Amino acid sequence: MRKVVKFGGSSLASAKQFRKVKAIITEDKTRCFVVPSAPGKRDSKDTKVTDLLYQCYDAASTGQSYKRTFEQIKERFNEIIDGLKLDLNLDFEFDKIEENFLNKAGREYAASRGEYLNGIILANYLGFPFVDAADVICFDENGQFLSEKTNEELAAQLSTMKQAVIPGFYGAKPDGTIKTFSRGGSDVTGSLVARALSADVYENWTDVSGFLVADPRIVENPAQIGTITYRELRELSYMGASVLHEDAIFPVRKEGIPINIRNTNCPEDPGTLIVANTSRKTPYTITGIAGKKGFCSVIIEKAMMNAEVGFGRKVLEIFEKYNIPFEHMPSGIDSMSVFVHQDEFEENEQAVLSGIQRAVQPDFVELETDLALIAVVGRGMKANRGTASRLFAALALANINVRMIDQGSSELNIIIGVHNEDFANAIRAIYDVFVKAEL
Ligand code: ASP
Repeated sequence: MRKVVKFGGSSLASAKQFRKVKAIITEDKTRCFVVPSAPGKRDSKDTKVTDLLYQCYDAASTGQSYKRTFEQIKERFNEIIDGLKLDLNLDFEFDKIEENFLNKAGREYAASRGEYLNGIILANYLGFPFVDAADVICFDENGQFLSEKTNEELAAQLSTMKQAVIPGFYGAKPDGTIKTFSRGGSDVTGSLVARALSADVYENWTDVSGFLVADPRIVENPAQIGTITYRELRELSYMGASVLHEDAIFPVRKEGIPINIRNTNCPEDPGTLIVANTSRKTPYTITGIAGKKGFCSVIIEKAMMNAEVGFGRKVLEIFEKYNIPFEHMPSGIDSMSVFVHQDEFEENEQAVLSGIQRAVQPDFVELETDLALIAVVGRGMKANRGTASRLFAALALANINVRMIDQGSSELNIIIGVHNEDFANAIRAIYDVFVKAEL
């Protein structure tokens, strides 16, 4: 049994948090490969070290005063080292980083130093060897991530080791230039390490006990999701449920390695298990609800549209021309509507509308703005009769006008469109009928 464990920024923000992390690792001997983030926020008013590093680098590389921010960064690390009473001095590393900042080593190099230094501290504290991610996470000269080369390098380097700390978030190009993943990318590193080692589970330790059925800012004290499939998760994260970096799913999914989201501040909670397939039944008909505001739909009507070959393509080409991705496209016999993000559409609105006029000569084009989309997701929905009728009855009872319905062909989700102002009420109504009523 071998586990790869990744700890997020808030789990490693202070000496106190480091102690919790060590207790978690030493309690289970199979937790032997550790991927740390940079120190995150100690409280809601704090600043993440990664953000301090970006700020500091921007100032240093443009000749502005940076010393105060640099001192702040040093203090964050020294406070951890002192709090843990480690026999470790990072002055040499700090000097080198300062010099590289002044020599314009790049913003990504700057940002990566948070994980790099935190990795050195954690390795020292745990007594594990440190493996620099620059040697094992590979990008090509253009900055494209090389997944197979990374997998080979990681396997070659780590398979002979019993334990290691590998900092998250960054890797390097062939010439050694540091390259980072997008923000939150330590999740991706953890997933890559788990894949390369064929780990039994990838534990992702954070400050919440996994995924919740609905957003706690909308539903009071929502239930937790015990087990979720990768596909369900993809649907929910697309709609805004964020705990895990999206790109962290693919490497482990390839190998069928489950991801377990765990809470460093509540290690006894089992958290959420993300798996490829499961026979575990969901406790409710649905697994989760998520949604986003700020969509608009372009409704196009034309008599005999169904008989006109190429109609849909011509319409979509106009959106493509202006680089506007479409999110959904429900259609009727003589009508189709294209859902887009309002902010992506606004700028080219008139050009798109006249483009549609020219391309397909519709009878009628209408624009509906300020819409929200809500996804009701669940592998259990397929097997349950009456899910849709319960859903729409609940919305009708809550006085909510449904503007769009789209049931995915996998029957894994039902997406509904409502007005922005009905968004929160709709989510509460759905939660009540499928979770509260089923408790
Ligand atoms: N420290 C980086 C960030 O703040 C990466 C991570 O924490 O995963 O985005």
